[in-house]
Amino acid sequence: MKHTRPLIVGNWKLNPATIGAAKKLFLGIRTGLGRKRHEVDIAVAPPFPFLPELERLSPSGRISLAAQDVFFETTGAHTGEVSLPMLKSVGVSAVIVGHSERRARGESDHEIYKDVSSIFNSNVTAIVCIGETTRDDNGNYFSVVEAQLRSVLRAVPKSKIKRFVVAYEPVWAIGTGAVATPEDVYEMKLFIQKILTDHFDRKAAAKVRIIYGGSVKKKNAKALLEQGKVDGFLIGGASLKAKEFVDIITIANDYEPTSV
Ligand code: PEP
Repeated sequence: MKHTRPLIVGNWKLNPATIGAAKKLFLGIRTGLGRKRHEVDIAVAPPFPFLPELERLSPSGRISLAAQDVFFETTGAHTGEVSLPMLKSVGVSAVIVGHSERRARGESDHEIYKDVSSIFNSNVTAIVCIGETTRDDNGNYFSVVEAQLRSVLRAVPKSKIKRFVVAYEPVWAIGTGAVATPEDVYEMKLFIQKILTDHFDRKAAAKVRIIYGGSVKKKNAKALLEQGKVDGFLIGGASLKAKEFVDIITIANDYEPTSV
């Protein structure tokens, strides 16, 4: 498969507590990146209220803004929800969908399918999270991942496949420090690629970036790229420390994949 430009996304979740702290973190990342040109796509997903201010801090769009979720309707009586046009109007170019923390609060595959459909009605990137809660010796977790993935594929037009990113995030590895082994990640990447190839075709499937999330730190990033062969990372905890996040971006930037 042809290698693609890595994507590194920081998911800030419900952090930090104030707009002042969010600006400080964002500026810390911007300063840490310096003027060097990076061969990596970089995005951060702050809480919704911080998006407009952070957009102003990244005029070049070098650090893209992502949203942590979206609601599929565009207008109407939906208290507390945020639509795709609203997100676009404050500079969002990618949306994380189906994060396990939202699935755990009741978000269904069908809702995720509708969210992804709304994203592909525009030119925004969809970062769809899939992953098993636990691993067992019989490999049942493969069926869990397959069902989650297949339930959104109908919403992904082949013509927009480059804007489809699959984030494999085993739930047991999120925020726990229990990172998946690079071998396990590679096996899952191949499995995901096979499903994508079945659904689209080999050429289209090769355009989808498959990234990994779950306790990524600078100490494990290289091995996950080298042996896990992922196309980037979705990073929670480590994205809240500017230096650690920039260090991971640098590792991805310096990593030269060998062709497979
Ligand atoms: C996440 O929230 O998507 C995540 C991967 O978190 P962490 O890096 O903290 O495990």
